[in-house]
Amino acid sequence: MDSGDWASQLAEADRERAVEVWRKSQLDRPAGDGICQSCDRPIPAARLAALPTATRCAPCQAGWEEER
Ligand SMILES: [Zn+2]
Repeated sequence: MDSGDWASQLAEADRERAVEVWRKSQLDRPAGDGICQSCDRPIPAARLAALPTATRCAPCQAGWEEER
């Protein structure tokens, strides 16, 4: 193969690995890790202190409960 093929195969392998790492990070994310599951922003420490198992920030939790 020429160097172009090699480069594109390498890029593809990297992309697959990146996707895998991302997918794993999503699956392995434990409940209450301090990151909102809806908006991916850090949950305020005060909220976590009051509710250690919180998996969403207050606005997202409110919206999520409304949707149900
Ligand atoms: Zn949120």
